[in-house]
Amino acid sequence: MKTPKELLDELLKFIEKLAGKEGVMVFKELMKYDGVTEEQIADDLGMKVNDVRKVLYKFEEYGLVKSYKEKEDENNQIYYLWRIERDTLNQSLLLLKKEVLKKLEEKLEDEENEVYFYCPKDFTRLRYSEAMLYDFTCPKCGTPLEMDEDNLSKVILKKYVNKLKEEIENEEKSL
Ligand SMILES: [Zn+2]
Repeated sequence: MKTPKELLDELLKFIEKLAGKEGVMVFKELMKYDGVTEEQIADDLGMKVNDVRKVLYKFEEYGLVKSYKEKEDENNQIYYLWRIERDTLNQSLLLLKKEVLKKLEEKLEDEENEVYFYCPKDFTRLRYSEAMLYDFTCPKCGTPLEMDEDNLSKVILKKYVNKLKEEIENEEKSL
């Protein structure tokens, strides 16, 4: 089992991948309350309410948060409180990982469909369509370009995708 601290660190890492730095800010703000309005979060963080709402809806999609309808007594105004779903964070993390995995696999597929060329002298790197424009010679020094068959970013991406797949499999077994 993961400690709550490990779980949180991991969760914040994936939240950043999914909703950016603003997503992390909003999530940390939610952690301070046991129910808070969109307006309050926007106020605290100096963000637009609309931007806060977008992040919250994204969180809701992954079961990270829930909204509760509350009624104000004096002027009968109804407003919503948002709260982190602490009980289901483990499952939410799994969902987030699957989403990130899907995006990475798509990226990897794009990379695999794209052929790159490089200059063996100064390592200028060009896509196939660009290389064609320059008659497969380097636009900087004129050296004939060579095909880049297994570029580094693809290798790193592949490793990360495999690691993530393994993690997801292990976690599904332990749920
Ligand atoms: Zn060159």
